[in-house]
Amino acid sequence: MCVVCRTTRDKRALIRVVRTADRSMSVDPSGRRSGRGAYVCSGGTCGQIAVAKASLSRALDVPLSAEVRAAFSAAEPQAAFAAPEPRSEHPTEPIIDAPGGSRGQE
Ligand SMILES: [Zn+2]
Repeated sequence: MCVVCRTTRDKRALIRVVRTADRSMSVDPSGRRSGRGAYVCSGGTCGQIAVAKASLSRALDVPLSAEVRAAFSAAEPQAAFAAPEPRSEHPTEPIIDAPGGSRGQE
């Protein structure tokens, strides 16, 4: 399952990234290296999103390695990262102007 879009795909359509013994991460083209692994869709933008949003770091609990960053950002130009970040907006709470409660006994 891809850590970005959470789509389950055939393993050949996914790139495996494995956590290495020295607490880094490495691309695992064979898919056979031992260690905790996380998958990202090959092709498409999931690899870039994984780098931009640190999805792989979260999945593997290690910092993003330069190797993985290079592997995924080589596919397409960096312009793909230009998605606007969602701002944490405070929703305006409706102010209910409740009367004091002294009304209504007529
Ligand atoms: Zn994906």
